[in-house]
Formats: sequence, C-alpha cells, structure tokens
Amino acid sequence: MAKVVAWLVLIFVVLLALRIINVRKIRSKTRGATRAPAGETIAQPMVRCARCGVFLPRSDAKAVTEGYACADSECAKR
Ligand SMILES: [Zn+2]
Repeated sequence: MAKVVAWLVLIFVVLLALRIINVRKIRSKTRGATRAPAGETIAQPMVRCARCGVFLPRSDAKAVTEGYACADSECAKR
C-alpha cells in the first residue's frame, strides 16, 4: 500500500513540475510579444490579400472566404 501511495505522490510531483514549466514558457512568450519600447507601435501580424497578393496589417484587411482581402479597395468587393 505504501508503494502505491509513493507512486501517486511521485506522479503528482512530476505533473506539478511540468505544469510549472509550461506556465513559465507561456509567460515568457507573452512578455516578449507585448513588450514594446515607448513610442513604438506594436508589430501587427501581416496577412496576404487573397485577391491581389499585397501584404497588409491584419487590422486593415477584411476577412473573406479565401482568407483576407484589402478592406478599402476593389479586392473586398469582388
Ligand atoms: Zn487586395
């Protein structure tokens, strides 16, 4: 019986350690992504217009059935 309890404790400790490692990884990733020097704009993900091939910030693009299209041009209307 003591052996079973020892195994359960060991498994719990390993899972806890893995969880702590995962949380640290996620924290370091999000810190790197959101930290931007003052006065600089945060880089936006770029998307490619499915109709004319131009790369543009995702906030300037419009979602269409093929992916994204230029929002303020003929591409989005087609
Ligand atoms: Zn376009």
